[in-house]
Amino acid sequence: DAVVALFESLARFEESRPHAGVSLLLAELDAQEIPPASRVEGVQALGGVRLLTAHRAKGLEWDLVVVAGVQDGEWPDVRRRGSLLGADRFGRAGVEPPTSPATLLVDERRLFYVAITRARRQLLVTAVQAADDAGPRPSRFVEELDIEIPPPVSAPDRLLSARSLAGRLRRAAVDPAASEPLRSAAASVLARLAAPGDDGRPAVEAAVPAQWWGMAEPTPGAGPVRPAGEPVRLSASALAAFERCPLRWFLEREAGAAAPATAAQGFGTVLHALARLMSTGPAAEDIDGLLGRVDSVWESLGFEAEWQAERQKGTARAALLRLREWLRTNDREHLGSEVPFGPVDYAGATLGGTVDRLDADADGRLHVVDFKTANSKPSQADVAADLQLGFYQLATQAGAFADATSGGSESGGAELVQLVDGRADGSPSVQRQEALPAGGGAVAAALRGMVAAVLTESFPARPNDRCERCAFRRACPAQDAGGQVVT
Ligand code: SF4
Repeated sequence: DAVVALFESLARFEESRPHAGVSLLLAELDAQEIPPASRVEGVQALGGVRLLTAHRAKGLEWDLVVVAGVQDGEWPDVRRRGSLLGADRFGRAGVEPPTSPATLLVDERRLFYVAITRARRQLLVTAVQAADDAGPRPSRFVEELDIEIPPPVSAPDRLLSARSLAGRLRRAAVDPAASEPLRSAAASVLARLAAPGDDGRPAVEAAVPAQWWGMAEPTPGAGPVRPAGEPVRLSASALAAFERCPLRWFLEREAGAAAPATAAQGFGTVLHALARLMSTGPAAEDIDGLLGRVDSVWESLGFEAEWQAERQKGTARAALLRLREWLRTNDREHLGSEVPFGPVDYAGATLGGTVDRLDADADGRLHVVDFKTANSKPSQADVAADLQLGFYQLATQAGAFADATSGGSESGGAELVQLVDGRADGSPSVQRQEALPAGGGAVAAALRGMVAAVLTESFPARPNDRCERCAFRRACPAQDAGGQVVT
């Protein structure tokens, strides 16, 4: 039983934490509150509860017996037993036929009879009845007992375990809505549970403050996140991501825990490359020729089905047609595509990166164009406050494009060109952000805030409308799923 229980524990552990190490497994096993089979005898000697299978209960008796979890599908279990080599089928007369389900049912019924007849005075049989027909229901054996079955009781809202008790006491001890006598009573019970006994161990480990989440001192990092005394290198996407959620930015960009690129991101990269070819070369008219160039990489984008790959190709074609229309009507001077800028220092940061396209208007003012390939577009209010576009403008004001423009540093604004979201006339939706005020306004303030936070290494979780798709939900103190993480 112990080995089987150990294997079950291993399987459960592997399922819930696939890459956790052996030491964590051992710690978890050590912290289990139900004693393993090998210690059952000791518990019995103390007048405790014996936990064992029906097979192991044969020949034994107790005043009170609980036969727990008598569920349909589990008891009777009429799945055919067997082993790899079929040794169980060797009989006196040689290899015997496999046991039939009818025989297995008889055996299971006999075993259930053994279990329920272990009780001298009281027998408690438990089973779960789901509210709907699709959920678990009691085994037919429960009905065959031919006794009146009491109405189901709903699940308790608290676990009956020492750890759970310690948790409830902790909550009560700090609950501002609780009365002072209740809080101090909870604290003193906790102290009693945490006090070492004769064996030097506390009655309840979970009551010892050293075991509580968040009580340990944070460990220092091996080095600063960014070198002290140097400007913080920042990109436009970093500023936007940091403002949305500093914790997610840190985990993805600094700790290197970013998820691998998705097919949608690969699609965007290919479309940007095609847009550059259209903007800079004679390829603008030959859309089918351009699409032919991507055939070799299309399969590697990881679409889940062939029809998706085909559909996205149609989307790419429509996007290129929109881009061609936009190129035809855009009367600004094209200064470059995929234009690198920086590094340029600004307010304690070093700004750098690449813009999809840089134009100059008739007055020599610079306009950054960002091609977008998502299916949906932001609201105009969001674009007006967009930090990525704002960052490009700030970099423009700081002279980041001086090399590419013979000294130009006046920003005329920035815009998103939505290649996938088009208008009825066949052109793409264009969403403009007006020129930033002198000094950079709110964008400059956000950038200064980020520089200060990075240097002081402060990365709080900031819930936002993208939390649903965040890979760090289970490690996020702002989410229920990550509630065990303190900071
Ligand atoms: S779940 Fe939301 S708040 Fe938490 S880290 Fe992710 S983005 Fe930030």
